[in-house]
Amino acid sequence: MKKRILISNDDGIYAPGIQAMYEAVKDLGEVTVVAPAGEQSAVGHAITLSDPIKAKPISRPDGFRGYAVGGTPADCVKLAVCALLPKPPDLVLSGINLGPNTGISVIYSGTVSAATEGVILGIPSVAISLGSYQKPRWDVAARVARQIAQHVLRVGLPPDTLLNVNVPNLPAKQIRGYRTTLMGRSRFVEKFDRRTDPQGNVYYWMDGELELLGDEGETDIIAVREGFVSLTPIWFDLTHRAALPAVQAWKLKWRGR
Ligand code: MN
Repeated sequence: MKKRILISNDDGIYAPGIQAMYEAVKDLGEVTVVAPAGEQSAVGHAITLSDPIKAKPISRPDGFRGYAVGGTPADCVKLAVCALLPKPPDLVLSGINLGPNTGISVIYSGTVSAATEGVILGIPSVAISLGSYQKPRWDVAARVARQIAQHVLRVGLPPDTLLNVNVPNLPAKQIRGYRTTLMGRSRFVEKFDRRTDPQGNVYYWMDGELELLGDEGETDIIAVREGFVSLTPIWFDLTHRAALPAVQAWKLKWRGR
């Protein structure tokens, strides 16, 4: 039976990374692309509740078909699965994203959030990002995407798990293989560039640099830096279990009465 694949991401439906993903997997099944109409990078898992969500059908001569959605990546996956597609897909692919989604970027990432939404809806989901913003080697990331899509369609993923894939921006021959990794502990150190517009109003432009926090072995950040394709299984159980005793030890008493 023909597999159904849903492609999304946060760079907008006309982004070259989405086109590369489409080309990479178009013969693996029935492919539909449902992605934001424009740039939605770093919107995280935002959803649209107080506005209508427009979905404009798109169909190109090369077979690329789907919907340009006036919403977030999470909106796209929800809308696709619950309203646009005749049946739920067998696989959600988010990407190929321009720029890495390693370390704490996972929290801000619209790319990862599209895949998270797929997992919430019970569908095996993979986020794929390319580790550079300059001179992207879409062909290499597309080969990775294809291999992983084929594998996940065959063997699935563990429950409640999305696979976060980060591909180094290197020629195929320089890629050293796959490495299973941990999400690196890191944070952004923000710089706010203070500027003035022609009317004299002050505005800020945010820019950040990723800072590594401690080393916890084989992280996604290090793997990409060392030339490996990083595979991180992610789940969103946000309870910090190790911190439970500390909070329990507060023994807070409610004095409402
Ligand atoms: Mn993006």
